[in-house]
Amino acid sequence: MSKKIVVNEEKRDGLAEGGKFRQTSDRSGAGGNGADRKPVILLVDDDPLMLQFYGGGLEKAGFVVKEAQSSVDSITAFIHLKPDLVILDLVMPDLNGFATCRTIRSLPGSEYTPILIITGHGDSRSVKQAFESGATDYIIKPVNLDLFCHRIRYMLGASRDISDKKRSEDSLRLLKEAVERLPIGITISDLEGKIIYANPAEAEMHGYTLEELMRREARMFGPPELRKPLAADKFHKMTVWKRETLNLRKGGEKFPVQLTSIPVKNSEGVPLGIITTCEDITDRKEAEVAIERLAYHDSLTGLPNRSMFQDRLQKALASARREGRQLGVLFLDLDRFKDINDTQGHEFGDKLLRAVALRLGRCVRDADTLARLGGDEFVILLTGASDRAGTITAAERILALFTEPFELEGRQVYSSTSIGVALYPKDGRDVNDLLRSADTAMYHAKAGGRQTYRFFSEEINRKITEKVHIENGLRRALERQEFCLYYQPQIELGSERIIGVEVLLRWMSPEMGVVMPSRFIPVAEDSGLIFRLGEWVLRTACRQSAAWRDAGHPPLRMAINISGHQFKQPSFVSLIDTVLDESSMDPTCLEFELTESVIMDKAEKTTLTLRELKDRGIHLSIDDFGTGYSSLSYLKHFPIDRIKIDRSFIADITSNRDEAVIVDTIIAIARSMDLKVVAEGVENREQLDYLKARRCGEAQGYYFAEPMPAESLETWIRRDVV
Ligand code: C2E
Ligand code: MG
Ligand code: MG
Repeated sequence: MSKKIVVNEEKRDGLAEGGKFRQTSDRSGAGGNGADRKPVILLVDDDPLMLQFYGGGLEKAGFVVKEAQSSVDSITAFIHLKPDLVILDLVMPDLNGFATCRTIRSLPGSEYTPILIITGHGDSRSVKQAFESGATDYIIKPVNLDLFCHRIRYMLGASRDISDKKRSEDSLRLLKEAVERLPIGITISDLEGKIIYANPAEAEMHGYTLEELMRREARMFGPPELRKPLAADKFHKMTVWKRETLNLRKGGEKFPVQLTSIPVKNSEGVPLGIITTCEDITDRKEAEVAIERLAYHDSLTGLPNRSMFQDRLQKALASARREGRQLGVLFLDLDRFKDINDTQGHEFGDKLLRAVALRLGRCVRDADTLARLGGDEFVILLTGASDRAGTITAAERILALFTEPFELEGRQVYSSTSIGVALYPKDGRDVNDLLRSADTAMYHAKAGGRQTYRFFSEEINRKITEKVHIENGLRRALERQEFCLYYQPQIELGSERIIGVEVLLRWMSPEMGVVMPSRFIPVAEDSGLIFRLGEWVLRTACRQSAAWRDAGHPPLRMAINISGHQFKQPSFVSLIDTVLDESSMDPTCLEFELTESVIMDKAEKTTLTLRELKDRGIHLSIDDFGTGYSSLSYLKHFPIDRIKIDRSFIADITSNRDEAVIVDTIIAIARSMDLKVVAEGVENREQLDYLKARRCGEAQGYYFAEPMPAESLETWIRRDVV
C-alpha cells in the first residue's frame, strides 16, 4: 500500500515548513528525465480515504502521486512540484474547488497542465463553472478506478500534444522574431536560386522592400561580372561557403560584403535551399584601408614608407631574379636640409619635404616606386631600363628637377640632393644589401661635393666602412683615454740644438694598434669629434709644458697642430685662455700650426683671431707650406712667425731640381719678410747640408728624431744627442 512521507520530503522539495502535501511513494522515478519518466500527478482532496483510494489506484497504474489536503497546500505543491496533471476535489475546507482551479490556472507554467475536477455534482451549471475556472475535464463520483486511470492517461497524452505544438509555435515565433531583428541580412533561396525569404536587414541593406525581393534571383545582389551560378554538383558537396565579395544596392552602388552560405537539406540529405547571411563590411574595409595606409605610408608626404618600399623591392627582386634582369635603387638625401630645418623651422622643413615629394613623384614611372624613408631621405626603385645607363638618365633627371626653386610661403627656396646608386645584382642581392649599398654611394656623393650622384663601388664601401668603424672607435676612445701625445724635436740648424717640439697625436687602439692621425683626424673633423679631441690635445700639451718647466728643463716651444674646424669655433680664443690659465703655461712657449687653407678662408675673421692669439704672446706658424695657395706675398697680411716647408719638397731637394728651386725661393722670400722657416721631414745628412747651405733656420725630421712619448723625449734631451 502507499507509504506516506511527510516532513522530510516536504523539506527536500523546498516546501515551507508545516506544509501538508505528501507523496504517496518514494519509488517514484519522478524527476528523472527522458521519455520513461513517470508522470507526476497532484491529487487534491481533503478526505484521507479518498486520497488513499485514488492515490493507490494511480500508483498502481504507473503514476507518481503527490497529495495535498487543502487548496492552499495544493497551490504551494503546484509551484514546487510542477506536476503533469492535477486532480482536484471540488469540495475543500478552505477555498472551493473552482477558486482553487482558477488560482492554479493563473500560476506561471500552468497553461498546458490538465486539471481534472472530481465532484458529486453533475449539474450543467457546475460543469460550466468548472470549465470557466480553467478545468480541462470533469468527472463525477463515484469513480471507476480503471476508467479513471485511462482518462488520466488520455488527458496527459492530449495535453502533451497540445503543449508540444504550442511550445514549437512559440519557439518558431521567437526564432522568426530573432531573425527579423538581426542586424545581419539573411536570405533563404530555393534550389533555383530564387529568394523565398529575406529579413528586413537584408532588404534595407540592399535598398529594396521585402516584397520586391520575393521570388527574385539571389544572384542579382552580386555585380554582373562576379555572378557565378553555383553548379548543382557543387551544391551537394557544399558545407559552409564563406567569402568576401561585392554586392549591389538597388541604385547600383557597390559595397563590400561578407557572405556565408549554408545549404539546407532534409533528413535524407536532399537539398532544399540555401541560407545566406550577408554582412555589410564597408566600415571594416575602410578601417583596413586606413590601417594599411598608416602602416605602409609616410604621413607627411603620403608616399610609401620604408616597410612598403622593402616589400616592393623584395617582390621586384624575385621577378628580376627569375627573368635575369637588373634593378636600380637610387638613394636620395637632400643637401643641407638640416640647415633649412634649423634656420626656417620644422614646419617650413616639412613643407619643403612635401614639395620635393611631389616633384619627385612627377619623374617616377608607374612601375617604379618612390618612397620616403624618413627625415630628408627618399628612395626610388627603378624596375624598367635599370642598367647603368638607365640609372644615369634617371639620376640626371632627378638632379635637373632641383634646378628650379620651390615656391614656399611666397618665397623661392633652392634645394638640391645627393644621390647614391646601387644595382642588382652587382651591388647587392637582397633588400638590405641593396639599400645599404645605395646609402653608401649616397655618402660618397655628399663627399664628392653634393648635388651629384655616385654609383656604389667596393672601394667606396671599404672607405666608408672604415670611416664608420673609426668614428665609432673614436667615440669610445675619448672615454677610454686611448689617446696619447708624441713629441718630435725641432732643431735650430745654426746651433744644432733643440728649440722646440711638435705635438703629434697618437691613438693607441686596443683593436687596431697605433692609429696615425692621417687616418682618424679627417673622420674626427667630419663627425665633430675634433672639438673634444683638440681640446684634450691642448690641455695635455700645456700641462706637459708646465710640468717640464717645473722640473727645471730649459723652455721648449710647444708646437700644436690646430684643425681648421677648431680654429673657426667662436669660443676658440676663450678656450685657449682657460687652458693657459689652468696649466699656468707660459704663452710665449706656445705655437699653433695652421694650414694655408685655414688662414686664407674668411680672411677678415681669421686675422682677428690670429691677432688675439698674437696679443697673448702665442707663436703662429703655417704648416705644410707649399701644398696650398703658395701665395707668400699674401702672408704679410697675417701676423705669422714661421712657415713650415712641407716634407714632400724636402724629400726631393737633393734629387729634383724643380723642388729644390721651390725650397730655395721659399727660404729666400721668407727671410725677406722676416719669417722663420722650418724644414719638415729631414731624413738624411744630404738634405740637412742642403738646407744649411740655403741658410734655412730650423728643421725637424727622422734624421734628428722621430716623434716620441714625453718620457723618451726627456731621456733624449738629457743624452744631448744633437
Ligand atoms: P704635420 O703637422 O705636417 O706633422 C708632421 C708629420 O710628419 C707627422 O706625421 C710626423 O710624424 C711626420 N714626420 C716627421 N718627420 C718625418 C720624416 O722625417 N719623414 C717622414 N716621412 N715623416 C715625418 P703624423 O704624426 O702622422 O701626423 C700627420 C698629420 O696629422 C700632421 O701633419 C698634422 O697635420 C696632423 N696632426 C697630428 N697631430 C695632430 C693634432 O693633435 N691635432 C690636429 N688637428 N692635427 C694633428
Ligand atoms: Mg704640424
Ligand atoms: Mg706638416
